[in-house]
Amino acid sequence: MSDHRKITGRLVIATHNSGKLAEMRELLAPYGIEAVSAGELNLPEPDETGTTFVANARIKAEAAAKATGLPAFADDSGLCVDALDSQPGIYSARWAGPSKDFMAAMTQIERLLQERGATEPTERKAQFVSALCVAWPDGHLEEVEERVEGQMVWPPRGDAGFGYDPAFLPDGHTRTFGEMTSIEKHGLPPLGLGLSHRAKAFVKLAEISLAR
Ligand code: IMP
Repeated sequence: MSDHRKITGRLVIATHNSGKLAEMRELLAPYGIEAVSAGELNLPEPDETGTTFVANARIKAEAAAKATGLPAFADDSGLCVDALDSQPGIYSARWAGPSKDFMAAMTQIERLLQERGATEPTERKAQFVSALCVAWPDGHLEEVEERVEGQMVWPPRGDAGFGYDPAFLPDGHTRTFGEMTSIEKHGLPPLGLGLSHRAKAFVKLAEISLAR
């Protein structure tokens, strides 16, 4: 028998980021889950002191579950570039600085790739990674991590999406995430099987923890 646990009723989304909240609400909508956010409940933001995506997602989910007595859902994500020893990784948001300047962060990646002579597509491999965690107040945890493989392109292309999307070309595609609609980027069922790291992780977590 599976020891996975289903979410029913209310759920806290452990994020203070309105973009992520909107995306997560969209993903949860078909499951009839009532979602309130950590930001709306004025919960403090815990320090992300983990050294992995999963560890940081768990810190955020556990803090929100403990503070509210409700199951809590959190994510952590980022871009890992092979030739840069998986940087920026868990520091992906921080590379853009307080002004969230992702053009500067993409330029920094390109500068480092050029310094290493990484000009061929095979030398510019990268992955977007998404870890999702649901934590229950009694300590039960469900965790998944998924990735989408691709390569860094220069110059960035497209102005859709956010963050590093314009410089990331997913394998098997001719357009960057910045040139795709969000429906294409996420490739969610029934239209697709999940393309983005976040959509793949969500589909996997939904199989485990959500009842349609
Ligand atoms: P987090 O809020 O700590 O999970 O930071 C994630 C950061 O990784 C974001 O600020 C973006 O810079 C980057 N990132 C994660 N997922 C994506 C994506 O789907 N597209 C573009 N950038 C992303």
